[in-house]
Amino acid sequence: MLLETKSLTKAYTPGVTAVTNLSLAIDEGEIVCLLGPSGCGKTTLLRMIAGLVQPDSGSVWFEGAEVTAVPPHQREFGMMFQDFALFPHKNVAANIAFGLEMHGWSRERAAARVAEMLALVELEGFGQRDIAQLSGGEQQRVALARALAPGPRLLMLDEPLGALDRALRERLMLDLRRILQRVGVTAVYVTHDQTEAFAVADRVVVMNAGRTEQIAAPQELFARPATPFVARFLGFHNLLDGVVVESGIAATKIGRLPFDGEGEIGTAVTLLIRPESVQLAMNNEQLTTGSPSSFILHPSSFITGLSFRGRYTQVLLACNGVPLMAELPDFPRWRVGDEVAVAVTGTQVVEARNRVPSEERGS
Ligand code: ADP
Ligand code: MG
Repeated sequence: MLLETKSLTKAYTPGVTAVTNLSLAIDEGEIVCLLGPSGCGKTTLLRMIAGLVQPDSGSVWFEGAEVTAVPPHQREFGMMFQDFALFPHKNVAANIAFGLEMHGWSRERAAARVAEMLALVELEGFGQRDIAQLSGGEQQRVALARALAPGPRLLMLDEPLGALDRALRERLMLDLRRILQRVGVTAVYVTHDQTEAFAVADRVVVMNAGRTEQIAAPQELFARPATPFVARFLGFHNLLDGVVVESGIAATKIGRLPFDGEGEIGTAVTLLIRPESVQLAMNNEQLTTGSPSSFILHPSSFITGLSFRGRYTQVLLACNGVPLMAELPDFPRWRVGDEVAVAVTGTQVVEARNRVPSEERGS
């Protein structure tokens, strides 16, 4: 374990915590993304790790030693913040060398390091350019080179691509991961963008209102969102309440649905229906789902919206009045208002509220 936070809590205003009891452990060489909506406490957590914000309670540990009271510059962490601008009056090489001079590197050693960093971020030959002559993407790579030059023991990045346009971000997020991996630096990377977190991280920490909701590798997170918040944040909107009525089956407003995993009879559950698990047919057609375990829903279902998305078509449905979303690989021949038959091939439990055991229920 390289870095640990233990029960970090911070309130800027008394009684309103920005980060609450947050514990996290990061391994050497890992790239960890803090992901969550604006205002959920990502920057506050990062700044507490950096030593720029003092926690109200809890502690930060690095290489097994407590560093909560160690001033930021003595932690030897690197930082790349969106608003941590390059020096516009210095050229590229001088920007990258800045931290090295502060650390007392000799001129020769610093020059060699600058060349090494320019090669790393694929900006060989850019050393003498003015910052103003660089594109946004090039500036971000210089900022990364500057942060990495002193060989920080931990690199912190706060929305480093936030100011760039979509296409440039797509490219730079891949460059970033490749560079961080090549250097082997441990990194904590803040973003509110799911795509960015998935592209950059080994592990993602999903935060909500100052707390962690789920910590998992991107693939695991996408395959098994553990809470309704995570499911919604990842863009899954088919969440449905139900009650377990037999092993692997829950009763819901739109009928009985199968679910993965355990669940005692009587447990209240929230089910996630992935859009690709929703299958449709005209009402008088046979539903051929190709899955023996699919459940045909009985209540009347109508198409309320159709939206062509390129690789798939999003179909909005009302099943017994309950909104449901499906994604079909082709553009269907149906129209809004058509009645359809709906089948669901499987669901996942994202929340379970155990009932009170019968002996404790009282009379
Ligand atoms: P994020 O980075 O996820 O957007 P922040 O850590 O910046 O979230 O903010 C978390 C909460 O703390 C927000 O409600 C924000 O308004 C509040 N906050 C952040 N910084 C300050 C500050 N310096 N003073 C007062 N409140 C702050
Ligand atoms: Mg922030």
